[in-house]
Amino acid sequence: MLCMTCKKEVNQPLNFCPWCGTTLRAETPSRFENVKLTFLRVDLSGFTKMSEAMIAEDVMAVLNEIFGVFAKIVESNKGILYQLIGDEIVSIFGLNIESGFAPHMAILTADEMFSKLLDFNKKGGFKSPIGLKVGAEIESASIFDLHHDLKSALILTKGFRKSQILQKNAATNTILVGENLHKVTKGFFDYREVGEFVEESFAVKAYEYKLKLKG
Ligand SMILES: [Zn+2]
Repeated sequence: MLCMTCKKEVNQPLNFCPWCGTTLRAETPSRFENVKLTFLRVDLSGFTKMSEAMIAEDVMAVLNEIFGVFAKIVESNKGILYQLIGDEIVSIFGLNIESGFAPHMAILTADEMFSKLLDFNKKGGFKSPIGLKVGAEIESASIFDLHHDLKSALILTKGFRKSQILQKNAATNTILVGENLHKVTKGFFDYREVGEFVEESFAVKAYEYKLKLKG
C-alpha cells in the first residue's frame, strides 16, 4: 500500500507509516497509555568535519542518501522514523503491530546501519569516514492526542532523554543501551558493562553492544 501522506510504499501491515509516522489503520487507538517502547537515537559523527571539505549541496546529497537507507532499515524492522534533527535520527519501536520483538529489532536496526555505513564509507571514499553514535533504551510511554500523525501527538516518556544521554556518551562507532533494554536482549546479544551516566535527575546505566559486523 501507499501511505496517503508521504506517498511512500509501505510493504507490511503496520499501525504507523515508518517514514512519516502517519496512522495507517482506521482502528489505531487515539491514545496509548503505559506502552513499553524502545527509543533509538542515531547520530552521524564526523559529519561536521566532512562538511568542511565539501560544498553544501554535496553534503545534503550524502546526508539524504544515508537517511534514505537508514529509513528503509527502520521500516524493514517495523520501527517508526520519528524525527530527523540535524544529523540525528530518532526512531521508535514497539508501536507497530506484529512487533513483539521490538527491542531486538531496534538493536538489529542499529547493527544494520553500521554495516550499511561501512559500505557507504568505502564507496564514498571520504577523507574522514562518517561514524555513528547510538543510544537506545526501553521506557514506558503514554501517547495522547494521536489523531493522524505520531509526530504531532504528545508523547510522555523518559525514553527520549535516556536514549539521548546514552547516545551522547557513546564513543564513535558504538551502541550504548540502557538497563531495561539490556535486560530484555542480553540473552540474544553480547554486551559489556560500561558504567553509569548521571545527568540532571537521570542516572542511566550503560552497556555497550558488541557489533556483529567485521570492520
Ligand atoms: Zn507516510
